[in-house]
Amino acid sequence: RTAVLLFTRDLRVHDNPALAAAGRDADRVVPLYVDDPARAANPNQRQFLLESLDDLRESLRALGGGLVVRRGDTVAQVKDVLAATGADLVVCASDAGRFAEGMLAGLAAAAELQVVPGPAAVEPGRLLPSGGGDHYKVFTPYWRAWSQAPRRPIAPEPDRLDVPDLPGSHDLPPAEPTATCLPPGGERAALARLDAWAPGSGDYGERHDDLAGDRTSRLSPYLALGCLSARAAADDPRLPEAMVRQLCWRDFHLQVLAAFPALTDTPYRKGASDTWDADLTALEAWRTASTGVDIVDAGMRQLHAEGWMHNRARLITAGYLVKTLGLDWRDGAAHFAAHLVDLDEANNWGNWQWTAGTGNDTRPNRGFNHERQTARFDPEGAYRDRWSRA
Ligand code: FAD
Repeated sequence: RTAVLLFTRDLRVHDNPALAAAGRDADRVVPLYVDDPARAANPNQRQFLLESLDDLRESLRALGGGLVVRRGDTVAQVKDVLAATGADLVVCASDAGRFAEGMLAGLAAAAELQVVPGPAAVEPGRLLPSGGGDHYKVFTPYWRAWSQAPRRPIAPEPDRLDVPDLPGSHDLPPAEPTATCLPPGGERAALARLDAWAPGSGDYGERHDDLAGDRTSRLSPYLALGCLSARAAADDPRLPEAMVRQLCWRDFHLQVLAAFPALTDTPYRKGASDTWDADLTALEAWRTASTGVDIVDAGMRQLHAEGWMHNRARLITAGYLVKTLGLDWRDGAAHFAAHLVDLDEANNWGNWQWTAGTGNDTRPNRGFNHERQTARFDPEGAYRDRWSRA
């Protein structure tokens, strides 16, 4: 039989459950990516996506295959490719959020659909709290369960792919990124970044919050589009436990999104206060890195230049918007979503809600003081200097 292998946020050949399943269960495989305008992305992530697709196409060619790229509604394009190739099975990774859920439901109605494990190291729903409920609401018990949970086997990479005559691809519009300093996209770049970072990562636990030190992995764009497998990274013996804990945070937010797909616009915590000021001038100053608070403006300039911001700076800029200015977390999240090369629905909105006190923070009324944050995490001012206006 012939299967359509639909790539989504798994743009790699290593540890790819969909690729392994299609190679195993079908005689011929049609590798397909659909660039669906309904899927949230921004010009920076789009640039990264286009490079990642080029890299994936090359890897699939090396296996004897290729990659069909289409633009349009995912379900309509898959139907078209099924009809053109005589395929009768679709293999696709699971994912959470409104877009992914709608897409998977549409595919299930259109064809036989095999859904395989998706972007998490431990699938949403695999771990359930002992006190009941369909997901974990608090991170620490989730981390305890996650660390001990058996993980799925690593998916083997097929030796070769048998493809039928592939239907034509669409030309994708160029990305026109706004950031001037983006990382290269693709699985090869992901693995190279991992290999370059891992050997010196021993001090990550102590230094990951040091803004100027810039000691974090910068693997987030690769994890967001699946150029790197989080499942494989979670078992990589070169990575410090503190970094694996961050991968667990990623899974935590994904299982929250799976249980609560309205995370992008609705307070997660029942009864949370969700009333915000509507000061457009203050919002615009925050957006344009002109609040006059150096640490906040520095973070925003890094976001605009790199399409990426250090996690501590994300916490500071977000905390300043919601706690100091009293502005709506949705506006902050939307601005991040317009720039982040690592945009990830669960992580962006999950972390914004956490910061705003509407999310999973067990201390939702936690105070925020940017001066104390500055003294602790940029004591010499090196980060502010690097991202000063000049
Ligand atoms: P490292 O410190 O090297 O961590 C390794 C990996 O763990 C990251 O690549 C990421 O996949 C995961 N991770 C790290 N911190 C977190 C966290 N707090 N929550 C969930 N996963 C985490 N991350 C995104 O990937 N996409 C987003 O859209 C995003 N939006 C955010 C918005 C706000 C307001 C905040 C506070 C955080 C956001 N994060 C987001 C989480 C975090 O800031 C980034 O994952 C991290 O800065 C990426 O840099 P790194 O790869 O060097 O991280």
